[in-house]
Amino acid sequence: MSGKNWEAAVIGGGLVGISIGYGLARLGRRVIVLDEGDRAFRASRGNFALVWVQGKGVGMPRYAGWTRHSAGIWARFAREIGEDSAIAVAHRQPGGFALCLSEAELERRVAMMEGLMSQPGMEPYEYERVGPNELRRRMPEIGPEVVGAIYCALDGDVNSLRLFRALHTGFIKRGGTYAPGRAVAGIAPVAGGGFEIAAGDGTVAAERVVLAAGIGNARLAPMVGLRAEVRPQRGQVIVTEKAAPFLSYPLHTIRQTDEGGVMIGDSVEEIGAEEIGAEDAGAEDGRVGLGILAVEAERAGRMFPRIGRLNVVRTWSALRVMTRDGFPIYDQSAEHRGAFLCTCHSGVTLAAAHALTVAPMIAAGALEAGLSPFSARRFDVSAAA
Ligand SMILES: Cc1cc2nc3c(=O)[nH]c(=O)nc-3n(C[C@H](O)[C@H](O)[C@H](O)COP(=O)(O)OP(=O)(O)OC[C@H]3O[C@@H](n4cnc5c(N)ncnc54)[C@H](O)[C@@H]3O)c2cc1C
Repeated sequence: MSGKNWEAAVIGGGLVGISIGYGLARLGRRVIVLDEGDRAFRASRGNFALVWVQGKGVGMPRYAGWTRHSAGIWARFAREIGEDSAIAVAHRQPGGFALCLSEAELERRVAMMEGLMSQPGMEPYEYERVGPNELRRRMPEIGPEVVGAIYCALDGDVNSLRLFRALHTGFIKRGGTYAPGRAVAGIAPVAGGGFEIAAGDGTVAAERVVLAAGIGNARLAPMVGLRAEVRPQRGQVIVTEKAAPFLSYPLHTIRQTDEGGVMIGDSVEEIGAEEIGAEDAGAEDGRVGLGILAVEAERAGRMFPRIGRLNVVRTWSALRVMTRDGFPIYDQSAEHRGAFLCTCHSGVTLAAAHALTVAPMIAAGALEAGLSPFSARRFDVSAAA
């Protein structure tokens, strides 16, 4: 593995890294994914599995368009990864609901959607305000306290753990090399092009390097003239015992998986970086707080009384990878053109775009202009304003 000259080395084998790695391998590139050990922080194993469009892009219309682009090619992506890996990822796109338990909550959500659509540069899409009677027709088991919802036909979900496995399997089937236990400590640009990467107890030489290390990107980016100010943001999820199918749509806080369990989530909690000190490495799945979980469970039970009667079988928390403004960063180093950086907090939704749109750009050697609003240079502009 060391000594071989790779066309691309992807650092990080989470959803973002493996999606890009898979996309590069599909194109026949010689690519290696360097990943940390199993005790690493991994958002990819703890997420809520939505392929979600509605509400995204307040403050950055381009992000709304990018999310829509990914959701639009997700069905093709699911088919292709299914063929490559022989794993069905259970993608569906029946549209999704955001349910509200009070008029005030519904009005806030409607105002948010109206504000999103009226932004300059926004390409509006259709969504529906649905009243309680119509909701009951579409979801007969809904509770009496639900006052209404927003429905958007673009929303869907997937079996996220199977997706993760399918991407790893498909990557290898397509000729990619996955190297676990190879934490990257340093990246040295080589005069004349390429990079020497110190990974585990060896070095790897590659023409291109893709930083997709989640929270780890913050430390790696400056080594190649990039920056990624990302912080961990905790989310907590509850899973119930399996139940007969009763929910044929994903909701933004409740979904019934293809295997029958009901997932309830997912909170948004700011935690300081100091909370995940070295002694906690790998412990992200261990920290759950009963206060937050109780609120999630109580709301879910009011939305669907049947959920209140199900046994909880598991809870966990995991850390989202969050930028300062919440939008992704896609960047290419001005100093070292072969170095790229990708980070986002919706790696399930954007997996299709990462594999089928971003990876071909990296293979071609340049991010296209359409991605320039996502450069970290936007933070210089807002700092100067
Ligand atoms: C509770 C919760 C719910 C979510 N729900 C959704 C959802 O419904 N829909 C959606 O689209 N997204 C959702 N997400 C977000 C999604 O899970 C993340 O966007 C995605 O997992 C991020 O993937 P990543 O590869 O950037 O990071 P990670 O999964 O954290 O992976 C980073 C990888 O990089 C490796 N690494 C780090 N440093 C180094 C290094 N120095 N050398 C080598 N390897 C390194 C790590 O070992 C790890 O494998 C949710 C996240 C959470 C936490």
